Amino acid sequence: MRVAVLSDVHGNRHAFEAVLEDVASADVAETWCLGDVVGYGADPGDCVDLAREHCAVTLAGNHDLAVTGELSLDDFSRGAALAARWTADVLSQLHLSWLEGLSPAGERAGAGLYHGSPRDPVWEYVVSALLAELCFDAAPERVLLVGHSHVALSFTRREGDAATGERRYGGDEADLSQGRWLVNPGSVGQPRDGDPRAAWLLLDLETRRATWRRVRYDVDGAAKAIRAARLPDSLAERLEYGQ
Ligand code: ZN
Repeated sequence: MRVAVLSDVHGNRHAFEAVLEDVASADVAETWCLGDVVGYGADPGDCVDLAREHCAVTLAGNHDLAVTGELSLDDFSRGAALAARWTADVLSQLHLSWLEGLSPAGERAGAGLYHGSPRDPVWEYVVSALLAELCFDAAPERVLLVGHSHVALSFTRREGDAATGERRYGGDEADLSQGRWLVNPGSVGQPRDGDPRAAWLLLDLETRRATWRRVRYDVDGAAKAIRAARLPDSLAERLEYGQ
């Protein structure tokens, strides 16, 4: 089975549509979303609709949980809290109820799915080999899929060795057949790894190959929508830089 893994859509309809179009050309059986469907971007309702329609699994991210009121906004930056309040105002009750039903952790086809990490599915950013070690020790699954940091990367640990990690670029491939793996597809709607293109991961569960994909999308359109909604300008600007 081939699977599309994506994360951190953040209300960016332009990016989400471009990724789903690329996914459609890749002949996958299922699409898995690791959370943060909303927050930051100007089209949260459209993104919820697209996730409901296209994703076999969707996790809750910290921004989704803030919008539904499950997490306090005190733990968010000013811009993120503003965007969360705005998002809660514009979403329909149907959208909010759907978000309320999501969980930040799950399991599918033997893989562990977490928004943040197995140790803290809501908040932990796994961006170092040391943290990856702790995650491997904490999780039962051999392959772990995480989002949250908005950085495409992977960590691996072979029996008896220390974990190592690397940033992943569009077109990179990894053979996941040996050892433990923790993989982040990168972010659909707000990449923070210097590449403004939308990110997703193609996972082949038979051959155990992972391929990191990047897709150009209408960044201008997404930025204009953020400005038209009077959300903080910095949220529009950062899309152009992928930071
Ligand atoms: Zn996020």
